[in-house]
Amino acid sequence: MSEKIAVGLEGRSYDIHVGPGLLARAPELLRPFARGPLPVVTDANIARLYPTALAAEDAPKIVIEPGEATKSFAGLEKLTGALLRSGVERGGLIVAFGGGVVGDLTGFAAGILKRGIAFAQIPTTLLAQVDSSVGGKTAINIGEGKNLVGLFHQPKIVIADTDLLKTLPKRELLSGYAEIVKYGALGDGAFFEWLETNGAKVLAGGSDATVHAVAHSCRMKAAIVARDERETGDRALLNLGHTFGHALEAATGYGERLLHGEGVAIGMALAFRLSVRLGLCPGQDAERFSRHLRAAGLPAAIADIPGARPEAAELIAHMRHDKKARDGRIAFVLVRGIGEAFVTDEVPEDAVAEVLGS
Ligand code: ADP
Ligand code: ZN
Repeated sequence: MSEKIAVGLEGRSYDIHVGPGLLARAPELLRPFARGPLPVVTDANIARLYPTALAAEDAPKIVIEPGEATKSFAGLEKLTGALLRSGVERGGLIVAFGGGVVGDLTGFAAGILKRGIAFAQIPTTLLAQVDSSVGGKTAINIGEGKNLVGLFHQPKIVIADTDLLKTLPKRELLSGYAEIVKYGALGDGAFFEWLETNGAKVLAGGSDATVHAVAHSCRMKAAIVARDERETGDRALLNLGHTFGHALEAATGYGERLLHGEGVAIGMALAFRLSVRLGLCPGQDAERFSRHLRAAGLPAAIADIPGARPEAAELIAHMRHDKKARDGRIAFVLVRGIGEAFVTDEVPEDAVAEVLGS
């Protein structure tokens, strides 16, 4: 079973294909957009696992180093050079075959090369399939922070082959699952309930449940992005758990100690607890939410992070520097219950500090 989701953005609309076995169909799906050489950017792990994927005379492979460190000016310089040498034309197509790192860097490179070359995404991580491949955000990291240099560049097509998730390390898979749970939590209580029943099947992979969860998440994100492409309003809901999550990632050094999705999982649980503390959300919704995270194998509290506990004051300082903060005020996505998120920048700091310390 495959699904197709249309992302409606006027002149920049595109389709997301979700299903098993789609990688084999990629050449045929990409053909309508391809002209001239079709460079495929991937990372060394994916190149090793899928050596024959998209192998063709006119599809030169560009292999980058795996890991967040490659999303840098140095990585961008290397990649743009390699893309130019591949012979890709202004009217051609560049394919990003990988997780968020490959997608973010390749999308950015495509967006600025020759003032903009079209690109396609074949996301290989669950996180990239449900999150980074929808919405057109591309970026690199600089010393001052993550994803601070980049642009909006929508892909021409996204091909999410759920079979690729079978080789993904379990922790990476769970990290992506946190973003799936996010869609239920922010706007679809029925989907959350479906995940409570089917989450294990989604994570086992290879079934219609995985396809449904990915497709539904993409559909929800696509609807929000179509309403608010440049994040002036509704799109902020997608940041549920991210204000706390980014602070936790920053405090733990953006590394193995805490993956992005793990930070988001804890961040969402904290957003629920903060909402309860402010009298906005019933306590049982917060408990039910954390229970599902734990049942799936995700962390749900700061105490779940290995090593020394990050201090509340340090976390608040990180939150003030978040690129989403306005006039130093921290924007929070809070909830009135599961499936009912809203944005506010009027949260008393002592309540935040209490939640971070508890
Ligand atoms: P994210 O999408 O979470 O930002 P990354 O691009 O950092 O992910 O990828 C996370 C790690 O998983 C990297 O080491 C990458 O090489 C590896 N990886 C990506 N896709 C797959 C896959 N389908 N199977 C196995 N490993 C993968
Ligand atoms: Zn995220």
